[in-house]
Amino acid sequence: MSGPQEACDVLVVGSGAAGLTAALTARLHGLDVVVVEKEALIGGTTARSGGWLWIPCSPPARAAGVDDSPQAARAYLRHEAGNAFDAERVDAFLAGGPAMVEFLAARTRVRFELGPAFSDYHPDAPGGRAGGRSIVAAPFDLRALGPELARLRPPLREITFVGMMIGSGRDLTHFFNVTRSARSLAFVARRLARHASDLARHGRAVRATNGNALAGRLLASAVELGIPVRTLSPARELIQADGAVTGALVDTPGGPVRILARRGVVLAAGGFPQDRTRRAALYPHRPDETGHWSPAGPGNTGDGLRLGEGAGGRLAEGLSNPAAWVPVSLVPRRDGTLAPFPHFIDRAKPGVVAVTRDGRRFTNEADSYHDFVQAMLRACEGRAEKAAWLVADHRALRRYGLGHVKPFPVPLRAALRSGYLVRGRTLAELAERAGIAPALAEEIEAYNGPARRGEDPAFGRGSTAYNRYVGDPAVAPNPCVAPLEQGPFYAIKVVPGDLGTFAGLVTDAHARVLDAAGRPIPGLYAAGNDMASIMGGAYPGGGITLGPAMTFGYLAGLHLAGTR
Ligand SMILES: Cc1cc2nc3c(=O)[nH]c(=O)nc-3n(C[C@H](O)[C@H](O)[C@H](O)COP(=O)(O)OP(=O)(O)OC[C@H]3O[C@@H](n4cnc5c(N)ncnc54)[C@H](O)[C@@H]3O)c2cc1C
Repeated sequence: MSGPQEACDVLVVGSGAAGLTAALTARLHGLDVVVVEKEALIGGTTARSGGWLWIPCSPPARAAGVDDSPQAARAYLRHEAGNAFDAERVDAFLAGGPAMVEFLAARTRVRFELGPAFSDYHPDAPGGRAGGRSIVAAPFDLRALGPELARLRPPLREITFVGMMIGSGRDLTHFFNVTRSARSLAFVARRLARHASDLARHGRAVRATNGNALAGRLLASAVELGIPVRTLSPARELIQADGAVTGALVDTPGGPVRILARRGVVLAAGGFPQDRTRRAALYPHRPDETGHWSPAGPGNTGDGLRLGEGAGGRLAEGLSNPAAWVPVSLVPRRDGTLAPFPHFIDRAKPGVVAVTRDGRRFTNEADSYHDFVQAMLRACEGRAEKAAWLVADHRALRRYGLGHVKPFPVPLRAALRSGYLVRGRTLAELAERAGIAPALAEEIEAYNGPARRGEDPAFGRGSTAYNRYVGDPAVAPNPCVAPLEQGPFYAIKVVPGDLGTFAGLVTDAHARVLDAAGRPIPGLYAAGNDMASIMGGAYPGGGITLGPAMTFGYLAGLHLAGTR
């Protein structure tokens, strides 16, 4: 093949958490690294994410005196992953995760904070914990990026407040209490004033939290280390010689370029959440175009998997779920398109329940988003439509908001007008307007009786530490349970969505891609969602995609540098 040619030590495909961590690690071990990114913006789904990493025994946890052990975490993962448990990769993750956090904290701008009360999603399972394993990217002032700020993917507009990023800890508490506490009101007023001035000066929010802070910190570190991140440059084909991967053909704005990589190529293109064909083939509900929505990055169309398969790699089979599920509602945008809004915690608030079209509840709504969607798919089995409705009374809706609808005093008008939010003076009227069966009124009445005592005998809301973590600590005796009594009543429809995919390339403990015979393909690595999840299709806790993504990015970087 002729045409322009370049050379480096390591070529990284994709600029999310996995790719940039691999790039930083390799660079800090003296290698010459190039990152190519298909989109105009850097950061992928990572920049839109919550920025939480599940890393048992992390340095922030150790500093806070959390009494955990790799053995307990291993027992938990063994239980969660079931038959898909991969001891070798899990052990590499448990040893490599804390080392990765320490390495990045010492050598780059990447920093994390502990979420001490963020419970594992199944804390009562063997080895499970009620907190101390999830860490979150520390907030970051994006002005440090200078001109590179324009190339960072912004957060999902729908989960910001007028473009402002609200951190999941202290920030969120103040925003929820804005009408109840003078201190919170002052805090929010200060944040809004600063945001307005940032918008005027920089055209976007610059006080980043969560995943945008993580992507910003990774990018700032890459810039400081002189790692080129070439946007609008999709890797199209891998170059192979004598069975080894030696580079890739990359489409750049200036035309195709052969980028040769002396040590190897890292596939970190973020899995296939936007690949409709593979979704229809692998997702259990076999979704058509409208049956499934993903808020993941637009560029994540499965290129990494195709490149890996083309070089002899294969996709993992036998995972209990091919993706990380989340229920999403569809927010109408001004331009006529719909944006999927991920429902992480609103389902758990007292005064909110979920029903299917038959008006019946089907699960503990305070369980994780991954568990909720699985229950929803089971409840809708045999029906063409896979959907549920989150139903709330007036008090709950105004207190907590619901989905894209913000709490009081933000007005409801726009959401009602667009049809995103449906309102009825009575439950019977709500059911009729939302297209839910009339049984809804009877179902809520049956729920309300025990709910007045804080009980949910049907599904056990509030029965786990995770349930209670996402409930409302101010509500007693059960932070997840209150009756729905005060009309008007409201409903929002949710459908299946995902945060990213689990079914990726089979790799070993060094993130090397394995061929059909289980042998490493020389020069080929995969990390992040291009690598088969080590969770076996389960979702054990907050950060179980980014934690392994960055850990195996780090381990790939070390292996490429020859230190492992
Ligand atoms: C709203 C939301 C919240 C989330 N919160 C969390 C959380 O708190 N914790 C957690 O663990 N997970 C979370 N997730 C999931 C998590 O964000 C993803 O699993 C993770 O970011 C994937 O990282 P990655 O590096 O594999 O891919 P990405 O970050 O998506 O990066 C992949 C990049 O590769 C690029 N690319 C694709 N094809 C090519 C190509 N051919 N050539 C070059 N580049 C290419 C893409 O454009 C993209 O920029 C969340 C997801 C969403 C949507």
